Amino acid sequence: MDIKPLSKGACHCGNVQFELSLPNGLEDLRRCDCSMCSRRGAIVASVPLKGLKITKGEHSLSLYQFNTMTAKHYFCSNCGIYTHHQRRSNPKQFAFNVACLEGVEPYKLGPVPVLDGTSHPADKDGYDPDDNIDYSISGHG
Ligand SMILES: [Zn+2]
Repeated sequence: MDIKPLSKGACHCGNVQFELSLPNGLEDLRRCDCSMCSRRGAIVASVPLKGLKITKGEHSLSLYQFNTMTAKHYFCSNCGIYTHHQRRSNPKQFAFNVACLEGVEPYKLGPVPVLDGTSHPADKDGYDPDDNIDYSISGHG
């Protein structure tokens, strides 16, 4: 599967459209088994914040936050599709729904690692040993 260095993405209804700078393809490809990700079932990859630009329909995005209210989960308010979120474990990154990318068939990506999001209660998005983890917090952000 060819991933363009500048890829276009959209939610299902097309109200929300975005561009992704992916010079190295899909990085940090994963699923996560936390309460949020297992429900939405999305395969995600990561980009630096500046690597994702909403080109259309920013006003159509709804923001969902829970638990520590750190991560910002965005979805289209019309069709309900999750597009991206600002990660809690690394707020300098967005994770995005690879199925929203033009030309990407998520079920042809091959095996995608499942991140053990439930074992790191304070950090369900991607464990980073450099993070200052507070294990007294439970739930995902
Ligand atoms: Zn939509």
